[in-house]
Amino acid sequence: MIASNDPRARTPEEWREAMGDFGEAPYRGDQIFQWIQKKGVLDPAAMTNLSKTLRDKLSEELGDAARVVREHRSEDDTRKLLVELADGNQVETVLLPSGHKLDADAATADDDDGPRHPGTTRVTQCISTQVGCAMGCVFCASGIAGLKRHMTASEIVGQIQLASRQLEPNERLSHVVFMGMGEPLHNYEATARAITLLTHEKGLGMSPRRLTISTSGLVPEIERLGADFDGQVGLAISLHNANDERRSALMPINDRYPLRELMGALRRYPLRRGRRITIEYTLVSGQNDSLDDARGVARLLARLPVKINLIPMNPIEHSDLGPPDTKRVLAFQQVLRDADFHCFVRRRRGDDVSAACGQLVMLGHEPNKQFLRRQPRGEPEE
Ligand code: SF4
Repeated sequence: MIASNDPRARTPEEWREAMGDFGEAPYRGDQIFQWIQKKGVLDPAAMTNLSKTLRDKLSEELGDAARVVREHRSEDDTRKLLVELADGNQVETVLLPSGHKLDADAATADDDDGPRHPGTTRVTQCISTQVGCAMGCVFCASGIAGLKRHMTASEIVGQIQLASRQLEPNERLSHVVFMGMGEPLHNYEATARAITLLTHEKGLGMSPRRLTISTSGLVPEIERLGADFDGQVGLAISLHNANDERRSALMPINDRYPLRELMGALRRYPLRRGRRITIEYTLVSGQNDSLDDARGVARLLARLPVKINLIPMNPIEHSDLGPPDTKRVLAFQQVLRDADFHCFVRRRRGDDVSAACGQLVMLGHEPNKQFLRRQPRGEPEE
């Protein structure tokens, strides 16, 4: 792992080393790491077992932290937090409480959702990795204004630290999905460091199985993720079409890494025994929701260890695209089930507060020209 110039994202080992410059004993470094990564305390002034001198030096070095500026609670208890970063940019993170297994199945790549604790509600958190997104998928609000900047590793995990204070007493963070604003693998170094921090035994100590990285299909970085984390981290692929030409129309990244290359990367991903790759398929009315499309998906994914999540598109501003009706969604699902795939229709959660998939957006930003140019025109297919 490359050394971090993002001080809040130091590992315990790096903090211990940094203590030399502060004139402090190395064990103080472990204490600071635990304050930040385990207890979610971002303000050095609140790190009460450190001396006032060390707290002051830390405040100077760490600078301002991100903060939650708004919380929207949906009727289904989904919460969307608007997080303001130190430079004033804003990103969104979503808390999805789930009372039953289906939700965890649908949102994460973890088939074993671990021990149940009676009386607790498990929460999956969806986090952002970039301010905006460069990938320009036509059905996604996050890419409307293009990429503004990458987030740092401390900003990425900071969303979890901030949200930990918004959890109800009976709620417990069980899974983290990197599916919010941005393409995590386009910001590989920060994403990889965030995984290292979340899984570090001196911090939250999350199992890598409970983390899922969602990608539009950046092939070299999929290979890198598999090698760096030994296939332990869950992988979700945004597929959305099994035909190269039509996938490129929805997702420009397909021009760079067409399906043959993407499927090769999935076959080589060093998946742990018994695990499956999650395939995300946003159903866009008239664009990719026909029975022929479903048969194409079945052919493309044959013999791959996958489960498929169908996501009826959530309406977004500046686009006429929308979801198919329920009958069409279920018919699509049936084709895949008949072909022996585990195939779920993702429940639409939080769409009354625009917290649903593809709806996380940079508020107040106008769409860029490329996004508008890519919007499909003319009559949809039958
Ligand atoms: S779907 Fe993902 S990769 Fe595509 S524009 Fe949206 S955030 Fe970016």
